[in-house]
Amino acid sequence: MSTDTVESTHKAPIIYWVVPCYNEEDMLPLTARILTPKINSLMASGLVSPTSRVLFVDDGSKDATWSVISILHESDPVLYGGVKLAHNRGHQNALLAGLMTAKEAGCDAAISLDADLQDDINVMDDFIRLYMEGNEIVYGVRSSRQTDTAFKRWTAELFYALFRLFDADTIPDHADYRLMGAQALDALSEYTEVNLFLRGMVPDLGFKTEKVYYKRGVREAGESKYPLKKMISFALQGITSFSTKPLNFVTWAGWMSIIFSIGMYIYASISVLTSHAIWGWSSLICSIWFIGGLIMVSLGIVGEYIGKIYLETKRRPRYRVEQKL
Ligand code: UDP
Ligand code: MG
Repeated sequence: MSTDTVESTHKAPIIYWVVPCYNEEDMLPLTARILTPKINSLMASGLVSPTSRVLFVDDGSKDATWSVISILHESDPVLYGGVKLAHNRGHQNALLAGLMTAKEAGCDAAISLDADLQDDINVMDDFIRLYMEGNEIVYGVRSSRQTDTAFKRWTAELFYALFRLFDADTIPDHADYRLMGAQALDALSEYTEVNLFLRGMVPDLGFKTEKVYYKRGVREAGESKYPLKKMISFALQGITSFSTKPLNFVTWAGWMSIIFSIGMYIYASISVLTSHAIWGWSSLICSIWFIGGLIMVSLGIVGEYIGKIYLETKRRPRYRVEQKL
């Protein structure tokens, strides 16, 4: 079916752009300046409904982010809305808070995007066309990571390799820049886990999906809120939320170590019986360190899961909305 027919038989969808913001006072005025003409042109071409709007989610920022959002809202109350979370709950929770607010407000679809606009906003036309053609979820996928540092590219590759190793499902090079239709948002609202990893949860919803490729740009203002430490914990979060395979690895490592030690025991016995070898402490100390390390890693992996079970059983709310515009 051609897009013309699709557009003429459907009314233009109400789109909500959900933008999580943490300490983005420097970036937001620029974000609005770049995003507004784009949205206006989408409205003018009849691709999106004139009642579509941008929803900024202030993730408990410590700077003037909320004041900037309020000023934007006052400048255009129809186009700009805001949700203020009571504390900083992290990108994933902020995003979910925005998506759920958009769903309650009755949007047809929500597009999530980062405040720094590193993700090419011009591919949104394709997002919306593909949605109109019956795709409930459209993923933005980075075709090039030229603007990322070599280190960031390398760690990302390692992350996806681990994900594949542990059979967890995710879309490589897709980072929360996506369109989700109202049905997908409804399905997402039924996931009650506290430890969120949307890049694993959304592919798990099981709707008709499509991908759009784009080149990722650089952050124009402010700095990245994902330093190495946060990136590692996010990767661990993803893996432990979607795979219990690391636990099988622990069991296997345990068995391998037992088999290895039986071999060593036989070898040591033969050596002692056939010669008068005095065994130095080096072999001993090596095995102690090796076994000690193995035990600690194993306990650590088990601990990660127990910690997660502990947090999930508390069933605490994932965020608290303090104010809405
Ligand atoms: N963000 C957030 N809460 C946080 C950290 C980040 O809402 O605790 C937002 C941030 O404002 C931005 C998006 O998440 O809109 C992605 O962050 P960033 O661009 O710093 O990550 P990077 O692109 O460097 O991975
Ligand atoms: Mg960024």
